[in-house]
Amino acid sequence: MIKTMFFIILFMVSNYNVATDILFSNEREFEQKARRERERILSSDKVKRKIRRIVIDPGHGGFDPGAVNKSMGLYEKHITLKFALKLKRFIEENSDIEVFLTRTGDYYVTLSDRTVIANQYHADLFLSIHCNSHEKKSAHGFESFFCSKKPSDKEAARVAALENAPGFDDPFFKEDNSIDIEAILRNLQRHMFLKGSRMLAASINESIKRKVKLRERGVKSANFFVLRHAQMPAVLVEAAFISNPQEGKLLQDEKFQNTVVKAIGGKLVGNK
Ligand SMILES: [Zn+2]
Repeated sequence: MIKTMFFIILFMVSNYNVATDILFSNEREFEQKARRERERILSSDKVKRKIRRIVIDPGHGGFDPGAVNKSMGLYEKHITLKFALKLKRFIEENSDIEVFLTRTGDYYVTLSDRTVIANQYHADLFLSIHCNSHEKKSAHGFESFFCSKKPSDKEAARVAALENAPGFDDPFFKEDNSIDIEAILRNLQRHMFLKGSRMLAASINESIKRKVKLRERGVKSANFFVLRHAQMPAVLVEAAFISNPQEGKLLQDEKFQNTVVKAIGGKLVGNK
């Protein structure tokens, strides 16, 4: 009796193995086919994604001046708005891409609302414009960031802390131990657009580097509140240091502004 049962079990197990082998080999084949098809589609020029809408975010505004250079009378919020308006004009004059701004005057928009605006417009790209600042006046150069949970280095963490300063508008904390579905979705979104954001940041940096003689500080990542809910590739550009006397002068200079706008805008228009 025991012997018979043993053979029955052995028969079932061996059949199960045969069945799973067939299933898994089919799955493997299917996966390989899907991968080949995906590669074929991605390598085709016809499917290059067309950029239709861009949302530009002039950092800070209203009661939030951003970084301030008191001795030169410079406010980050005014400079970012100038850059954003110029960039909007440049893109619209040189393409059929629609451009929207998160603010068009000197008023405050919460950090999370800025990406809500981009999501509502179904933008293909989100670009937040800022000026950097450091207690050491000698700090200089431009850099671009994309959003990541952990900062890429100490300097990235410092810049994120600076830009997240009006962080009172972060409504996503859970007080109990319930599963935070929003956090899971945010994580998914961040991963979905990570590669696109990194590529966009790198190409913007490369373009600025070719047009201006500022130090390129690299592409970095950190948890920027203004980027983290974006449902599209999203980048934050720190154009130059407002705290540096030479770069402070440049940031006010129309010619410098136009050159940077041309560098960023040219890249975005060319990506169409
Ligand atoms: Zn800023």
